[in-house]
Amino acid sequence: MYPRIRPVLDDIPVYTPGKALSGLVKLSSNENPFPPLPGVLERATAAATNLHRYPDLAATELTAELARHLSVPAETLAVGTGSVGVLQQIVQSVAQLGDEVVYPWRSFEAYPIVTRIAGATQVEVPLTPAAALDLPAMADAVTERTKLVLVCSPNNPTGPAVRRAEFSDFLGRIPEDVLVVLDEAYVEFVRDPEVVNGLDLFAAHANLCLLRTFSKAYGLAGLRVGYAIAHPPVAAALRKCAVPFGVSTIAQLAAIESLRCEDAMRARVSAVVGERTRVRSGLIEQGWQVPETEANFVWLPLAGRTGDFAAACQRSGLLVRPYAPDGCRVTIGGPAENDLFLRVAAEWRSSEV
Ligand code: PMP
Repeated sequence: MYPRIRPVLDDIPVYTPGKALSGLVKLSSNENPFPPLPGVLERATAAATNLHRYPDLAATELTAELARHLSVPAETLAVGTGSVGVLQQIVQSVAQLGDEVVYPWRSFEAYPIVTRIAGATQVEVPLTPAAALDLPAMADAVTERTKLVLVCSPNNPTGPAVRRAEFSDFLGRIPEDVLVVLDEAYVEFVRDPEVVNGLDLFAAHANLCLLRTFSKAYGLAGLRVGYAIAHPPVAAALRKCAVPFGVSTIAQLAAIESLRCEDAMRARVSAVVGERTRVRSGLIEQGWQVPETEANFVWLPLAGRTGDFAAACQRSGLLVRPYAPDGCRVTIGGPAENDLFLRVAAEWRSSEV
């Protein structure tokens, strides 16, 4: 006989991270192909001498740096253990048993997980045929029980991003007491000028919360730092729901140092975006259907052949992320890694025809 576990956890989907198998090229977790930015390792290593001390609970210096960097008041910021940690704080702040959380599907796999952990009800709104978010349908899905709407732009794992005009219209349709989270984990990779940048709309919408991370463009996935930009009462609630001391001193200092390397970060992101264009064009030339992508990955809508394609990649030394039964997501890596992917994709096409 074991202690009773909350029944709501029984059939919770398990988060399945991209495996790291030695000797294989890993394009399965949307990581940055570059190592940490200049100066970051030195700062992190120096901080390691203080490992017997707790970190600054309020991440004061990082919060101040972010406030300067983003031109927002410090009281609108809530730092957490990766943006997925902050997402959990968000859900716990606004949703409980009986409440509804509306989100697109397929999208970031943590959305159903954090919703269920909070005991709230999942309301999943299908993507459009172009693998983009269907914002009008998401607005239609909001009921009196909705407490939270999650908007992922660019959408993981499919790639399309939300346009500013459509997001404005959408916000106009959402009741003011419902929190809207714009998950901008990949915002730095966006090149389409019509795509929304949440900061432009933030001040005008008291129910808007932006979710950002140091894991992707800044290349700090291993350190777990993310943050929300939310209006002060919401940000205060998020801070209350944080795991105390969740962001280590090393992570805080590495994030601060990374913010000081804006030019290097932008140059690296541009290199990834250049490779993204090359990979997507190469795939389209091979005859693949590839949705638009504003992020650091491409989506192959393989449907029933998703698992077979991922297995074929693995046989060729390449790890991609299968999302059966919809498709595979492949992260943009360095040029040689992308060449390998394009080769495997071409072989697959020729075996299919
Ligand atoms: N949001 C989206 C859309 C993501 O794809 C991810 C990572 N896969 C995250 C949030 C979480 O990233 P992290 O916790 O590393 O900040």
